[in-house]
Amino acid sequence: MTHMGTMLPKLGWIFCVLIGAGVAASAGAEERRAVVIRDVTVIDAVHGVRAVSQVVVEDGTIVSAGGSEKPPAPGARIIDGSGKFLIPGLWDAHVHLTYDPRMTDAMLGLFTAYGITSVRDTGGQIQHVTAVRERAQALDLPAPRIFVAGPLLDGELVVYDGNGRPEIGTSVPSSEVADAVVADLAGRGADFIKIYEMVEPEVFAALAAAAKRRGLPIAAHVPLSMTATEVGPSIDSLEHLRNVEFACAADAESLLRERLRRIQSPNGESGYQVRRSLHATQRPRAFANIDESNCNDAVASMRDTMQVPTLRLNAVHLARVYRRDDWYTALRALPDAVRVEWSESGRGFRDSREKRDLTRAEWSLSLVDRMHRARVPMGAGTDTPIMLAIPGFSLHTELELLVRGGLTPLEAIEAATLQPARFFSIDDEVGSIAPGMRADLLLLDANPVDDIRHTTRIAGVLSKGVWLEGDALRRVRRPAAAQPGSDPPSRRRGRPVP
Ligand SMILES: [Zn+2]
Repeated sequence: MTHMGTMLPKLGWIFCVLIGAGVAASAGAEERRAVVIRDVTVIDAVHGVRAVSQVVVEDGTIVSAGGSEKPPAPGARIIDGSGKFLIPGLWDAHVHLTYDPRMTDAMLGLFTAYGITSVRDTGGQIQHVTAVRERAQALDLPAPRIFVAGPLLDGELVVYDGNGRPEIGTSVPSSEVADAVVADLAGRGADFIKIYEMVEPEVFAALAAAAKRRGLPIAAHVPLSMTATEVGPSIDSLEHLRNVEFACAADAESLLRERLRRIQSPNGESGYQVRRSLHATQRPRAFANIDESNCNDAVASMRDTMQVPTLRLNAVHLARVYRRDDWYTALRALPDAVRVEWSESGRGFRDSREKRDLTRAEWSLSLVDRMHRARVPMGAGTDTPIMLAIPGFSLHTELELLVRGGLTPLEAIEAATLQPARFFSIDDEVGSIAPGMRADLLLLDANPVDDIRHTTRIAGVLSKGVWLEGDALRRVRRPAAAQPGSDPPSRRRGRPVP
């Protein structure tokens, strides 16, 4: 325990929270003892739904999941799973841990409390995101597994250049430097790369080849100088469905020529400005003029590309989470300054009489449906903490929206478990419940296959071999300083997230 004391200043928030929860005091060997969950319904995307007499976890690994009746090791923690449902720990496949430094440490505890045991950081300076990962690992306490891309690999123009928005992008101005950029990121701990919107076609090809040589999966936005149909076969995930509409448009080719002209002569405008004006001028034209055959070609090009549609972002004013009581309740867990800001923004949206254009929100839901019917793999991600996405909470909103977009509840669970594991080719380690798999587990009080909103009915979380339930779980979510008394019960559900 002594090493924890020396880390206290750095670990800050999460450390204090866990001390408050009484978790730290009992962490280590005692908490890592074997865990047996008895008489439980196990649900995962590989095996479906099955009732088992016991799931046994030793040393953070599942040693049996219904196949053996071997008695638990002496001293094992026995959990009564009767009437409960066990699913793999969830992923948020699109997060930005360093986008708002006020949120970074709070995010780790919140992910755990909402059952998220793995996250994919889809953009942040490599030294910053790897430092967060090292801190999370050093905690010796529950924290999600963190997979990082490093910075958004942008073109000569950079959207997130640090001027007026966080510096989470970097310039890759020519194909000659692409290999060195990827080599450097790989050497510094990147698990994948993220290619962004201002990259030009030759640079895109060089980055993709460099990643492939090193076995790094590729996440991307469709670069504005290319089309989804071209890019789809080379990338492993597409974020936000970004720029697919341009490939779906009847005049896809003339739209592309216009974008190329604009990117090649930016007239002194920043990457952010050029991108914004292209989105603003071309999106309405594309949405008004979708060509079925072009769109089917674009979708077919992504049959092996995980789509992380971030519906809770694209359709934020359709989902209107800021009208929900449970969203305001969940806000209480955020650091003070952020809570005040988000609460004001949320109330502003809620009370506004402005009529919002929902074309893009509806397009996003319809594209998810189209892709789902074409068997394109789906991943669940939120873009937290961008645009009012409460870490952890927002992933459950995303699951609801994926179901609204046509997925079955079990497919939504697959999007938040097996698919992100497949992206990293670690689906033999995480993402389902079977002997030999790591024990990232979420125990629910209600059946998520009946209603996907039941993923919020969390009875317990097993993360890094540590079982959390009840007060320990509640306090991981909410820092002591931010507890203004007890929560009112949610009006929408029987009970709030623990
Ligand atoms: Zn993002």
